[in-house]
Amino acid sequence: MENALQRFLFEHANIRGELVSLDSSWQQVLERRMYPASVRKLLGEVTAATTLLAATIKLDGKLSIQITGHSALQLLLAETTGSTVFRSTAKWNQREEENLENVNLIKDGSIAVTITPKKSGQPYQGLVEVHGESVQESLENYMQQSEQLTTRLWLASNGKKASGMLLQKLPSEEDIESEDWNRIITLASTISEQELLALDFDTILQRLFHEETIRVFKENSVKFMCSCSEKRTDGMLESLGEQEIRSILKEQGNVNITCEFCGKNYIYSLSGVDRIFSRQSKVLIQDSNSSIN
Ligand SMILES: [Zn+2]
Repeated sequence: MENALQRFLFEHANIRGELVSLDSSWQQVLERRMYPASVRKLLGEVTAATTLLAATIKLDGKLSIQITGHSALQLLLAETTGSTVFRSTAKWNQREEENLENVNLIKDGSIAVTITPKKSGQPYQGLVEVHGESVQESLENYMQQSEQLTTRLWLASNGKKASGMLLQKLPSEEDIESEDWNRIITLASTISEQELLALDFDTILQRLFHEETIRVFKENSVKFMCSCSEKRTDGMLESLGEQEIRSILKEQGNVNITCEFCGKNYIYSLSGVDRIFSRQSKVLIQDSNSSIN
């Protein structure tokens, strides 16, 4: 059950759930950068949350969560594709690093959830303002507002693991099941962050819901994988414009792009830069030809 996501269903209540546990895959994120403890904790929680949310809406596509919070936190982003692969990263102001400890990083910030279905390729974004709530509560608000799904989340992370649990009311005509919902949420809320990190899925379900009948589905594996590529980096340079790129090339001898997520280096010498922009000019020539014809 390492790097896995498991769905389950309460047989006699209109409620479904998921558990996620990211172990070596989460450590692959951490070995790329030395995060301040508070940033690492939030990043782990948000990473676990992306996989849980993507799985619960059965997303075929991409889901990302980006946090805007403390001014010293410049970027915090986790992204999952179909809840089976994820990548996440954070950037912060190194000179203000000590200000990031022992504070609520998302206080008065906002959380942007972007969903890009594979089919349409059109991203849509939901934004939730944080009014002193935890990241869990803010995402619960998001699910209620954007997906009309009553959801509860429990998230935990440390230097070894990122874990989470989600419970959700299945859509139904009437609200007759609120008694079940309240009972199950009360039971679920007795879990501690330590337990969520330390116990395996079976033990968690047994510990919380031993009086309930639960149907457990097959585990899905979740892994760290970066979607960066030479083609995408080409596209990024192209969008920055030939003039800008040629001036960097002149100044530095080459153009060096490092992926924020996986740390991979893409280095462009003169020939690489020529390749990108000669291709672009060819496309332009073809376009102008076709308009003449
Ligand atoms: Zn990458």
